[in-house]
Amino acid sequence: MSDWIILCDFDGTISVEDVTDSLLERHAHPEWTAIEQRWRAGAIGSRQCLREQIALVDADRGQLDALFASMRIDRAFPAFVEAAMAANIPVRIVSDGLDVAIESLLARHQLDYLPVAANHLRADGPRRWQLEFPWARADCAVSSGLCKCAQVALARQAKKKVLLIGDGTSDFCAAGAVDLVFAKHRLIEHCRARDLPYVPITGFADAIVLLPALLEGNLAPVAPAHAPTAHAKSHTHA
Ligand SMILES: [Mg+2]
Ligand SMILES: [Zn+2]
Repeated sequence: MSDWIILCDFDGTISVEDVTDSLLERHAHPEWTAIEQRWRAGAIGSRQCLREQIALVDADRGQLDALFASMRIDRAFPAFVEAAMAANIPVRIVSDGLDVAIESLLARHQLDYLPVAANHLRADGPRRWQLEFPWARADCAVSSGLCKCAQVALARQAKKKVLLIGDGTSDFCAAGAVDLVFAKHRLIEHCRARDLPYVPITGFADAIVLLPALLEGNLAPVAPAHAPTAHAKSHTHA
């Protein structure tokens, strides 16, 4: 029986494209980019950013479904889930994105049995949408829609050790609270800068290879940034 549980980001980690950005690019009033800039500048948190952006969407359910049907996931993700299940490691999806998009993409790959915690997209008329935040936490420093550090606390009630797999800003608050991070993209730099225990990955094909060592307890995280050899190694993966 494994001690580990896996929390996995969705957009940019499981999905190839960022589903929320794709939805806004295709179906929102162009004002969404001004809201995005306020978020990038740190003027608002992602919760307020997402709430205001989703209110600018003008599309019916059929258009949303067509968009979700065009989005791709990391081709190695289904095999990764299978390997984790075989090793008795639960996998939970924790996302600051849209629940209906995640459920749609997972169902297409027969993975909709995976538990999902995400923001809730609710119809507010035939072409209007509202985003609700059942997993928000007022005490989280990053003011995200879904607080991933609170999800880490929940995961610890199930298993002793938590592995986070993620790629970006929405994973920052959780990265400092878990035992190990499999990091992609911007999350690599975040973990390196804060000396968090992480292993850089380019996708789930890498993560599958790392699972046996994780289970045997001899997976070596990248050492802190002042160790030159580990620093050089992490550069080759970034
Ligand atoms: Mg992401
Ligand atoms: Zn948090």
